[in-house]
Formats: sequence, C-alpha cells, structure tokens
Amino acid sequence: MEEFVKNDLSMEQMEYMVQLLNSSMDDYLYIYDLKQDYYCISSHATERFYLETDHFYEAEKNFEKFVYEKDLPLLTEDCQRIRSGTILFHNLHYRWLDKEGNPIWINCRGKVLKDENGVPAFLIGCINETGKRQKADNTTGLLGEISLSTYVSQFEGKLPKGFFLRIGIDDFKDINGGLGIEYGDFILKWLADCISENIEPGQKAYRLFADEFMVLDFSGGNRDKAIRFYKNVRKAIDSFIEENGYQSIFTISGGILMTDGLDGEYENVMKLSEFALGEAKANGKNRCCVFDPEHYQVFLRKNDLKAQLHHAVNHGFEGFEVHFQPIVDASDYRLKGAESLMRFTLPNGERVSPAEFIPLLEETGLIIPAGKWLLHHALSLCAKWQKYIPDFRVNVNLSYVQVMKSQVLKEIMTAIEESGIAPETVGIELTESGYLDSSPHFKKLWSGLKDRGVQVILDDFGTGYSNLHCLGDLEPTYIKIDRSFTAKALNNQYEHNLMVQIIEMSHSLGLGICIEGIETKEELAIMEPLAPDYIQGYLFGKPNGENDFEQKFILPDSAACGTPAGSAQSAF
Ligand code: C2E
Ligand code: CA
Ligand code: CA
Repeated sequence: MEEFVKNDLSMEQMEYMVQLLNSSMDDYLYIYDLKQDYYCISSHATERFYLETDHFYEAEKNFEKFVYEKDLPLLTEDCQRIRSGTILFHNLHYRWLDKEGNPIWINCRGKVLKDENGVPAFLIGCINETGKRQKADNTTGLLGEISLSTYVSQFEGKLPKGFFLRIGIDDFKDINGGLGIEYGDFILKWLADCISENIEPGQKAYRLFADEFMVLDFSGGNRDKAIRFYKNVRKAIDSFIEENGYQSIFTISGGILMTDGLDGEYENVMKLSEFALGEAKANGKNRCCVFDPEHYQVFLRKNDLKAQLHHAVNHGFEGFEVHFQPIVDASDYRLKGAESLMRFTLPNGERVSPAEFIPLLEETGLIIPAGKWLLHHALSLCAKWQKYIPDFRVNVNLSYVQVMKSQVLKEIMTAIEESGIAPETVGIELTESGYLDSSPHFKKLWSGLKDRGVQVILDDFGTGYSNLHCLGDLEPTYIKIDRSFTAKALNNQYEHNLMVQIIEMSHSLGLGICIEGIETKEELAIMEPLAPDYIQGYLFGKPNGENDFEQKFILPDSAACGTPAGSAQSAF
C-alpha cells in the first residue's frame, strides 16, 4: 500500500520527530526531504560519524563528505532510483566515515513517502552499525538461547500445543568467507528483523548459536501455520536480495517440530529440531521439513552403527569377519576360487547386513582400514588354501572410497607380497559407476593392477550405470553379471536376449563372463547355453565363514570335494 504525505512537514517538526526518538534507540534515525534535499539525523550521530551537524541542506552533495568514497556510487545510484520512484524501500549496506575518517559499515534502511501527486517526497528510516555489538543478543537484537531454555523449561516437558520452527541460513560460512564477517552479521541482523516482523501474538523468536534462529508458537499453531511462517520469511528474503541488487544471494532452511505428543524437555526439543533442520539441508536446502519420527529412528540407528564400527576398527576389528562364496568354472563346475565378503556382527549378536554397514563404512572412511584388514586376511587364507588347490583364486571387492582416498594399489601389492601368492590368483572387483573410470585415480589403479598381473573384474554389470562402451575401454579380465540382471534375464525374454548379446560381445572382445545369482538347477539350465565362463550363486554355495568354507570346499576330505582340485559340484 502506498502512503502519501498530505502536508509537507516543517523542518522543526522533522527535527523534533527525530530527536524525540533518540533517547531510546541505539540506532540513528533520519529523515531525508527529497524535494528540498534536506537531511536530518539523530544528534548522537555527530559524535560517531564525520558529520559537522545533525541537519543540513544540499544533502546529496554533503554525503560526499562522510560516505566512504568507494561506496558513493552505490548510494548515488540508489538515491536516483528513489527519486525516480523505481524503488519504495531503501536498504543499503555501505560505509560511512567515523570521526577519525575510518570507514564503518552501516546498514541504512528507509521507506519512501510520496506526496499527493505521487512524487517521492521523504525517505524516512534508520541507520545502524552492523559491526557494532548490540545489547540483547550481540548481533541480532533477539533474545538468546538461555532465554529460550528458561522459557521452555518452565513447562517441565509438557508443552502447550503449537510448534517450533528452527531456521538456519544455508551455507552461512560462504557468506562470512566470501563477503566478510561484518556482512555476515548484517545478514543475521536483517534476518532477525525479518523474523521479528513476522511474529504474531503467541509466538516468540530467539537467536540460537551461529546462523540459527528459533521461532516458537505455543498458541495452538498447526503445521500449516509453521510452514506459512517459513514461506513468508523466504519471500521477504527474495525481495531483499532483489532490492539489494543481488549483492549477495542466500537462502534459508527450516525444521518444524510440532509440540503435540512431544517430550518437551529442552534438550529433546533442541535435538529433534536440529534433526528436522538437518533433514531440510540434506534434502537440498532452501526448504523446510517437518520432523519425521521414522526418519529419526533411522538416523539414530546409523549413528549407533557408525559408533560401533569405529569401536570395532579401533579394537582389532572385533566383530568383523570375512566370508567366502565359491566361484565355479561354468564348463565343469569345479571350484575356481571365492569372492571374499565382509561381515559385521554387533556385540549383542545382531548380524548387520552388508547393504547397511558397507555404505556407513564408506561414509566414515572406515572402509579404508576395514578393507585393508580384509585384504590381508583374505590373501593369507588364499595362500593357505593354495596348498590344497594350487591355482585357487580369491576376489576382493574395492570401494570407490578406497580407490579415491587411499594408496590402494600399494596396499594390494604389499598384501600379495606378504602372502606369497601369485598376483594372477588375486582378483579385484570394482564397480563402474559412470564417473569412476574417468578419474585418474581409477585409471592408475586399473592399469597398475593389470600391469602387475592382478585380475581386474568389473562388478555389478547390468545395474544402474554400467555402460557397454566401458567394456572395450577398460578391458577387464572378466565381467560379473549382477544377480538382479540375472533374475531379469531368467524371467523376461528381452532381458534374456540382451544378456546373450552382451556375453557374445564380451567373448568377441576376449573378456570373460561370470554370472552371479544362480540359485536353482532350473536357472542353471537356462543360463548354461549362454556359455558363461564362471558361475557364482547359492546353488554352488552361499558365503561361508572361513572354517566352514575350508571344511566344505577346500580340504581333500571335505564333503564338497569331488576331485583333488576341489569341486563345488556336489554342493547342489
Ligand atoms: P556383491 O559384490 O555384488 O556381492 C555379491 C552379493 O550377492 C553377496 O551379498 C552375495 O551373498 C550375494 N549373492 C551371491 N549369490 C547369490 C544368490 O544366488 N542369491 C542371492 N540372493 N544372493 C547371492 P552380500 O554378501 O550381502 O554383499 C552385498 C554387497 O556388499 C556386495 O555385493 C558388495 O557390494 C558389498 N560388499 C560385501 N563385502 C564387501 C567388501 O569387503 N568390500 C566392499 N567394498 N564391499 C563389500
Ligand atoms: Ca562383488
Ligand atoms: Ca556383484
């Protein structure tokens, strides 16, 4: 809504208004009469800034005396836009000179009032020093976390119906880093003001640490109201950014926690609202998320597992085991070797699925020590088993984290040397994920392994990213067809034909094929005509602990051993 000034104020009236508000304010108030080019500011501004008087004509010309030279064009441009009526709000962060002539960051905000003919007549607003620490909470003027904690705690866990909305600035570090801490403070102050302006009766706003704020509604506010609050602040930010000429662009995320049925202890409120805000950030930022108890349980489980994995790695890999699954020659079903597979058991006896713990090992980087441990363990067993089956091979899976963040080639060669086995009897399984093969780390590892005679195996073929073109480029020793692709090919003619084509093509390129996931004789009968080189699947054996594997598949008198070279055939 536009506001009009009916009668021009007299100079005395203007000065009186400004001085009237002086006593209670930390900020400096000003009135700028645009038509008469007359400027009037709180008198205490003359004590701080390079100002001879608190009121003067020829304002625009006088600005040159106390506005920092480099920021003058910015101000002039904004003044022009105000005069021409293009903008109705003035919101500029720039520098004035203090009494000694040093530049001081100020934030100048103001509103344009038009006369009855629609011509901009006055700019009225306030100036505050953004670098200066303010009374209530240093930067923002809001109450701080202690006040929030005191307020929430008085309800002794039983909170009135309503919500918490925790707001955080996205990538605030970048703002501080890129534009300076003072500018960061300025944004915080601005956001605090914006939040305060949106507060309704029954709501309160607090400044938490760093770049976070908490809005609290104990007056029955529902979820929609919380979302609306967040959206309103976001909308204000968008206009602010535009008004500021895109000087800096920033976004906020929000986490909403409803008080209904909530354990309202302060610590819990902080924990859960932090999680909700974290989810909003993890989901791409610039959005808000309502606290989801199921997601929170998953989060707790992950944290617990990460802690257990850390503990295990630091205590001699307690709880870790290596299992081995037989890989057979597709022409006679004789045992060729085994894939080593990592296992992890919690102290309470729970076995955690690799699908759950491997990604956590990757996330934490613990896959590097754990993978190294497995490598040494698996190769030393391979050396032991080669006494019974001389060309017995062991495959080891490598994660992209090991490839990108450790000296894994050196590790592998050391482990091979220490175990005393031939490099040709070690297979390294790697998954091509669409970008890995273009990384120099990957290329170096891949060619390094090949040069040293180690088998390089392309794992998980037929899932997600696997590109046919990379077969020709990478020339793996062989390709492992993922069991999900196998399952599709067993049930669908098109997928079956596709697999036939891929196998034929691979063979024509001189690459081997291993089909994974064969569980029954019937499935074997369907896959046999495709002439793969190796087969791995439950039909020939599930992953077994080292002792069981040794008993079942390696030792000459083991039940599964049909020939001196060992055979998994009798396992089915
Ligand atoms: P993968 O490398 O594709 O390993 C083969 C998975 O298929 C194994 O699951 C194996 O038990 C399962 N499998 C083999 N044949 C059959 C079958 O006939 N039927 C069925 N239903 N499943 C079969 P597992 O042991 O649960 O491992 C899952 C994944 O965890 C592995 O997939 C691999 O990506 C990862 N993983 C396991 N151990 C390691 C390790 O030491 N290092 C790394 N980086 N990843 C590992
Ligand atoms: Ca594998
Ligand atoms: Ca696989």
